[in-house]
Amino acid sequence: MSARILDGKALATRLQDEMTAEVAALKAHHGRPPGLAVIWVGDNPASAAYVGGKDRAGRRVGIDTSRSCHLGADTSQARLEALIDDLNTDAAVDGILVQLPLPAHLDGDALLNRIDPDKDADGLHPVNLGRLLRGEPGLRSCTPAGVMALLAEAGVEIAGSNAVVVGRSILVGKPAALMLLEKNATVVIAHSRTTDLASYTRAADILVVAAGRPELVTGSMVRPGAVVIDVGINRVTDYEGNSRLVGDVEFESVRRVAAAITPVPGGVGPMTITMLLRNTIDSFRQRMAS
Ligand code: NAD
Repeated sequence: MSARILDGKALATRLQDEMTAEVAALKAHHGRPPGLAVIWVGDNPASAAYVGGKDRAGRRVGIDTSRSCHLGADTSQARLEALIDDLNTDAAVDGILVQLPLPAHLDGDALLNRIDPDKDADGLHPVNLGRLLRGEPGLRSCTPAGVMALLAEAGVEIAGSNAVVVGRSILVGKPAALMLLEKNATVVIAHSRTTDLASYTRAADILVVAAGRPELVTGSMVRPGAVVIDVGINRVTDYEGNSRLVGDVEFESVRRVAAAITPVPGGVGPMTITMLLRNTIDSFRQRMAS
């Protein structure tokens, strides 16, 4: 058996094409497009790639990214707080995100918490996480929302399934578990202190892995016929010095057992950016309606 590949890149392209038409119609109707401001502090090279990807995708669908700013690594907390306050009241801005990680002298939680929850494009503000916990509408965290969109596209039956999420971060694991619960899966969250991880992963109909550990989950840890979503992105270097990206799932052994699997790269990654754009458009719609 060889698993069906859940192609996040193709789905992201299709959804972004649909958003392009949606944004053009919104702009024609309201006189301006949705606006997204990405705040990037310092020169972390990984952040450069992520910020560049978000900006390109935003512009591609017609979102206004002109309020985004890149600030020096020595920028003060007070300066960033003032910037967020300005963006919170800027009528042309519907989504704000602070690119992580931040330089060590900055209090990232205080900055994230300062963003107007209704402009929280990343869906990480405590108010939006609380809305998710309560099952209320709100801006959803982008990576787990991308996981859910991939499962929906693949026609995976979530209600009544056994879902196992490996990882309990605020960014991915916890909100992914809540989203699966919202869709009526029976959810187990495994983490770094779980004893006998394989006994849990082998029980999963849907296995979402977000541990940040290269190829942690192998074929023998997966139930035949399971759907496996690999959130991990890890750069590894082989003994010849060649580097490549791998997920938290050992792709070759797991694809022989699973019914469906996301590749790395080209699985969850492109969906994260797509959900960021979705949140920005939804926030625009919400603000125009109120
Ligand atoms: P994190 O380090 O904040 O959290 C990792 C979680 O995995 C922790 O809760 C920890 O308890 C658990 N864990 C660690 N080792 C484990 C083990 N051996 N067994 C079981 N659980 C273990 O990481 P994160 O921010 O949640 O990201 C996880 C992975 O997803 C990383 O590889 C990251 O690069 C990737 N990621 C990808 C996207 C994307 O768009 N595709 C977005 C965010 C994160």
